[in-house]
Amino acid sequence: MSQAITKIAIVGGGTAGWLSAAIIAAHHKTNQTQGIQVCLVESSDIPTVGVGEGTWPTMKNTLKEIGIKEAEMFAHCKAVFKQGGKFVDWVHGNGDFYYHPFTVPLGYGRIDLAPYVEDIEQYAVESNFQHHVCEAGLAPRTISEAEYSGQCNYAYHIDAGAFGELLKNHCKQQLNVQHIVDTVEHVTLAADGSIASIELAKTTPIEADLYIDCTGFASMLLGGKLNVPFMKMDKYLFNDSALALQVPYEKADSPIASHTIATAQNAGWIWDIGLTHRRGTGHVYSSEFLSDDEAEQNLRKYLGKAADGLTPRKISFQSGHREKFWEKNCVAVGMAAGFVEPLEATAIMLVEISAKFVAENLPPTKAIMPTVAKRFNQQMRYRWTRIIDFLKLHYMLTKRPEPYWQAHTQEDSIPDSLKEDLAIWGYRGPTNSDFESAVELFPAASYQYVLYGMGFKPDFSQQAHLYQQQQQAQTIIQRNQKITQQMLQTLPSHREYIEKWLASAKTN
Ligand SMILES: Cc1cc2nc3c(=O)[nH]c(=O)nc-3n(C[C@H](O)[C@H](O)[C@H](O)COP(=O)(O)OP(=O)(O)OC[C@H]3O[C@@H](n4cnc5c(N)ncnc54)[C@H](O)[C@@H]3O)c2cc1C
Repeated sequence: MSQAITKIAIVGGGTAGWLSAAIIAAHHKTNQTQGIQVCLVESSDIPTVGVGEGTWPTMKNTLKEIGIKEAEMFAHCKAVFKQGGKFVDWVHGNGDFYYHPFTVPLGYGRIDLAPYVEDIEQYAVESNFQHHVCEAGLAPRTISEAEYSGQCNYAYHIDAGAFGELLKNHCKQQLNVQHIVDTVEHVTLAADGSIASIELAKTTPIEADLYIDCTGFASMLLGGKLNVPFMKMDKYLFNDSALALQVPYEKADSPIASHTIATAQNAGWIWDIGLTHRRGTGHVYSSEFLSDDEAEQNLRKYLGKAADGLTPRKISFQSGHREKFWEKNCVAVGMAAGFVEPLEATAIMLVEISAKFVAENLPPTKAIMPTVAKRFNQQMRYRWTRIIDFLKLHYMLTKRPEPYWQAHTQEDSIPDSLKEDLAIWGYRGPTNSDFESAVELFPAASYQYVLYGMGFKPDFSQQAHLYQQQQQAQTIIQRNQKITQQMLQTLPSHREYIEKWLASAKTN
């Protein structure tokens, strides 16, 4: 009889490792049943990457499913709401900006407002209230609304280190995950090429039925031992370096942005993520177009006095992903599977999606594992293609003159799949029918916000039917203005909301 799958060993204790452990253990109720055992090995000598503070709205469900209360997460991780991304200077570099908010446009799926918006770069302003909520520095809900709900869709900004701690404690105390602090020194293969065991520096070897490689850039199991090749994507996405710097707020009560701010620079962009106690910032750039010193100058210029006396940390990375993500009895999750620049916070979202797939499709025996692996690989390849296309869309329509930006507009730097989309969007804009896969990451709304925000107006002239809803479009645009006014009057300031809410959660 084929061997049953009962033990899962996760190697790596970064966000990918602990999130995977929590998702799989919660799904299989490892704290209640004798079925599946989950153990996680992490090295105390190899640090985690220590960044990764922006998430996607999928995190709300993930936290609910693994049993963490939102208020507990906010208090522990100094977290705040993230209502989308603000892209500054990406089009012209003269102070222009647009939002990619998490709430879909009003009338979404029924009517495309793009033909009725005079200045296409203002699409998000006309079609959605969240732009205004973010600009006014407001929270997405009032104090009387329940946790995990909101008038605007949202995700979170989290302190990466604290988030890992929270997940670790939850896994150990609530989900019965075994925790081993040791370094994997050697991986032993069985005769069929699958992983037989992992040997540790100090403790006895671990044998498991399924191994999850969460060793970050090292990809020790999938890449290192099983030799699954890495597919470079730097032809499309040029960035390979980051300088990360955590900076204090000017004053204890400084406003907290409820969105990630991504400000374009001459050869890259700067992220700015507010938490309750500090900002996490950094410059992502291409070493081909910018030296480390120049990048540091850009970052210091952006931060002003906030950076005085602080030294940024350099992180180098390769854009790309493994050719396969599940090979034999090993699945890579997190940066062990791949990494591209953090422009839309896709990395942690992919961790959630990958771990959910493993949890929901965990094969009962080894015999069926190749079939599950094949499906996982197909889905993940599709997701990576979509992510790369979506990120590239942020670059390829720029009108900035610098060599880095112009290189992003060159035909041979644009994936064929994105060129095909653009050919169609040239006359009718993105719609849900472009994104029909059951495994879509970004809805058509996300493409609309970025495409139009970057100033791309389809030539709707041959599509007369798109202009026949004038009355309805005006009604929706006016409704948006009305809702915006209501929200601006009723939603509390972001910082004020978090402080009040956490104080009341403590006393309850
Ligand atoms: C500059 C930058 C900014 C980012 N911003 C975002 C963002 O805003 N949003 C987002 O979603 N993502 C972001 N990411 C990605 C995000 O940080 C990662 O996806 C996330 O932290 C998961 O990392 P990881 O757990 O895969 O790897 P790591 O954090 O590197 O963890 C690797 C783990 O493996 C362990 N390990 C390694 N080798 C061994 C061994 N031999 N034995 C035992 N243990 C071992 C280490 O001890 C560590 O615990 C960013 C990444 C970078 C580089």
